[in-house]
Amino acid sequence: MKTFKITASSISYYTLELEAETEEQAYMMAKETDGAEFAPDGVGDWVIVNVEEKPHEEGCPAVDGIGCRCGEAA
Ligand SMILES: [Zn+2]
Repeated sequence: MKTFKITASSISYYTLELEAETEEQAYMMAKETDGAEFAPDGVGDWVIVNVEEKPHEEGCPAVDGIGCRCGEAA
């Protein structure tokens, strides 16, 4: 077996209701709003953005992943 390092990115959704004349105005007003005024909206989502093989530690005797002693160094 090989060790892989997986990087994921999580997305959280927040909503805010405000009164404005146009979408553009609402957007500008929301941008200037303190983020604390937004309410959490649902669980959100997460996505895996990268998978890379993690190299064995220096001195690890592993051959094709067998006999790995990474993390056991004194
Ligand atoms: Zn190893």
